[in-house]
Amino acid sequence: MPQALLVHGGAWNIPDELVESSLSGLRHALEIGRSRLDEGADALDVVETVVRALEEDPNFDAGRGSRLNRAGEVEMDASIMRGSDLQAGAVAAVERVRHPVSLARLVMERSPHVLLVGQGAGRFADEQGVERCRTEDLLVGAELERYRRVRAGETVLIREEFSPEGHGEEAQGPLGTVGAVALDARGRLAAATSTGGSQDKFPGRVGDSPVLGAGTWADDTSGAASATGWGEGILRVLLTHTVVDCIERGSAPEDAAREGLARLERVGGKGGVIVADRHGRRGIAFNTPRMARGWLDDEGEIHVAIEGEPR
Ligand code: ASP
Repeated sequence: MPQALLVHGGAWNIPDELVESSLSGLRHALEIGRSRLDEGADALDVVETVVRALEEDPNFDAGRGSRLNRAGEVEMDASIMRGSDLQAGAVAAVERVRHPVSLARLVMERSPHVLLVGQGAGRFADEQGVERCRTEDLLVGAELERYRRVRAGETVLIREEFSPEGHGEEAQGPLGTVGAVALDARGRLAAATSTGGSQDKFPGRVGDSPVLGAGTWADDTSGAASATGWGEGILRVLLTHTVVDCIERGSAPEDAAREGLARLERVGGKGGVIVADRHGRRGIAFNTPRMARGWLDDEGEIHVAIEGEPR
């Protein structure tokens, strides 16, 4: 049986100084995912493990490395979906957890719900014994500096980045949402996505990443996809569901990814998507200047890219 693994670390105008570190972060996550697949792990475990590795990497805007909202807090969104039975879990605007993707999985497996938000998601984390961290533990570099200044009572500059332009040529700060899709040797598909959301977003703003069909979708009968980009646009076209639906209607994954992007462009959206189908075929498309992305080829070799032709 073929296997597949694709990852992304955001689609935007990634600055030159972040290129190398982003590529090595993706490579590292793919290595971890590949060994899990080779051990015979379930696709769901693989995407969770891979997204955890990317959440741990401060080069990406997810888990550690998340961006501050305009109130100077970190509110994170994540989701995970299993293609065999369309089971899924998600958290939104959750604070002080290191691995929102694992909390999303607990929502799926240990609650009767699909999506928990804000304080309720935090309460659920506590009930489940998930270790809470400090907001500062999630911040690095300039964001940590800004956080300390906000806490000291200083008014800091707010940048408006949650626009389609925020993901285009003008993009300033890191917008590195992370995601993974996997097909395991037993034909099971899964997808997961995690983000600190857009820089300086309004408190309580929820993007596409925790919304099923928008940021994440997986169905063993067709394909699995994870999206990144301007969340408000991705939500309005249910990007990942649209892409997987195209596969169901007969498109090859690379065409399906492009068709999804064409739909995103109807709302002026900018972003990217990774997708695998049940045969292990891959598709990647983006309409931003760069997209951090990686995949295993048919021989299991690792490929990572930021520039160039989407594939
Ligand atoms: N889609 C994410 C959001 O809107 C941001 C990103 O992918 O960069 O929250």
